[in-house]
Amino acid sequence: MKKLFYIIFFYLLLTPFISSSIIESENIIIDSNMTFEESIKGTKAPKSIIDNLMLLDVMYYSTDKKLHKGQIVISKSVEKDISSIFEIAIKEKFIIEKCIPIVKYNWSDNKSMANNNTSSFNYRKVSGSKNLSKHSYGLAIDINPKYNPVVYKNGRISPKGATYDINKNGTLSKKSAIIDAFKKLGWKWGGEFRSFKDYHHFQKISNK
Ligand SMILES: [Zn+2]
Repeated sequence: MKKLFYIIFFYLLLTPFISSSIIESENIIIDSNMTFEESIKGTKAPKSIIDNLMLLDVMYYSTDKKLHKGQIVISKSVEKDISSIFEIAIKEKFIIEKCIPIVKYNWSDNKSMANNNTSSFNYRKVSGSKNLSKHSYGLAIDINPKYNPVVYKNGRISPKGATYDINKNGTLSKKSAIIDAFKKLGWKWGGEFRSFKDYHHFQKISNK
């Protein structure tokens, strides 16, 4: 009888915790739930690069103002940097619409950008050049490309139909805490490129 009493007592004591943790996990919307193998499937990157990559789970507030879980393929060397950037985004309530490994877009940068997807690793050349992009090593990240497009000197904007409105949540501008944080960690922001503005792009240039 005494044993039963204890069982009931502890059950009642723990119930609120059990149910609240279930509610919490139910409220998180899963945007991506791949294995590492799935996240790099079909890439043309050599093994020496793949061995330095990892798949990181990240959380963010999306356009529905709800907490989402996504994933990003990055270089193992920048795990701390990228984790801290996503933490700052949550603290600042800075919207990241979605973050899904680019394999979901058949490795098409254009399709991923048009879908406002945030991503890092993609084994590819710099647009319009023969050099490998820092994305090839998971050392560059593009954030909300549709809110933060590339703006060329002649006024052309990529992705098509995008607008750059610094008052829209999810848009990067000089005032953004994320940009400061990236710079302190040794990253360069494409919004400060001279030849054209690549507002969604950050790349690691030095170890800090
Ligand atoms: Zn980029």
